[in-house]
Amino acid sequence: MQAAETLYMVIPCYNEEAVLRETAKRLQDKYMYLLEKKMISSDSRIVFVNDGSKDRTWEIIIELHTQAPSFFSGINLAHNAGHQNAVLAGLMTVREQCDMAISMDADLQDDINAIDEMLAKYYEGNQVVYGVRSARDTDTFFKKCTAEGFYKFMAAMGADVVYNHADFRLMSRRVLQELSNFREVNLFLRGMVPLIGFQSCNVYYERAERFAGESKYPLKKMLAFAINGITSFSNKPLRMITTIGLLMFVLSAAAFIWAFIVKLTGHSELGWSSTMCSIWLIGGLQLLALGIIGEYIGKIYAEVKQRPRYIVADYLNDAETSSPKS
Ligand code: UDP
Ligand code: MG
Repeated sequence: MQAAETLYMVIPCYNEEAVLRETAKRLQDKYMYLLEKKMISSDSRIVFVNDGSKDRTWEIIIELHTQAPSFFSGINLAHNAGHQNAVLAGLMTVREQCDMAISMDADLQDDINAIDEMLAKYYEGNQVVYGVRSARDTDTFFKKCTAEGFYKFMAAMGADVVYNHADFRLMSRRVLQELSNFREVNLFLRGMVPLIGFQSCNVYYERAERFAGESKYPLKKMLAFAINGITSFSNKPLRMITTIGLLMFVLSAAAFIWAFIVKLTGHSELGWSSTMCSIWLIGGLQLLALGIIGEYIGKIYAEVKQRPRYIVADYLNDAETSSPKS
């Protein structure tokens, strides 16, 4: 194996005071172990990104950094930017200082023991290593169905995502560099990273239960996330409108001919019901089409504004003063 390289673990935290200390402790143990095995260098860091939490999360991060600056760093975002933005903020802030970065959730649902294998795969030459869930035994039936349905639907809609892979992944410095060139505002990292390419592979792990605190992804947010993922990565919904429109045209032509024949044969008491039905049908279709188009216009709106996607307020890192790695 080559000389040990610098790893930064990026952990987004939103109202995670209940789990943070335990997470920090376990990650520190992992860090020590990896250091001993010479899989990471001693200037590696565990970086907590505080995503505008309303509880004591940031105070805890400061405390951890003050107690052990050689392990823990902290990034404080000026406001709640959302999970995807927080992950990106972390990765982009540290990318000059690390050789590779791993992003993972604060609630330890991602198995930190998979990190060993991720690093091994990295040293074998992989630029991206995806953490993929092998089982969903710990999820509720509802979460399991919605989540698996989500991946299947995404694939059917033409977005290239890794099945059952969330945001637990290792990326090399090179990949982070390329990721920084993606300027989109509607972030969907799971779709973006496969687009970058490079040699990649999967590492399988079992996802544990959140050991404390509550999920920050209620159904409403999950749905929004799915819609965002599909419309950010696929034009299929737009094409579907065209197909439906074409089909409707053929059908209405047939209906017209039918109505004409009925009229010619003198049975022209065409009822109120058929008129009403068609009005409702056409009205519904138009609304649906408008809705989908609106979805895309909303995106264009957000993209043309070119707002910064996150704002870093503070960056606590002792390595910061040293020159960036070349
Ligand atoms: N998170 C965040 N900003 C948000 C919501 C969530 O940084 O606005 C973080 C959260 O602290 C956690 C990760 O994103 O580390 C995943 O959230 P959660 O565990 O609640 O989602 P679930 O695992 O239930 O899908
Ligand atoms: Mg979680």
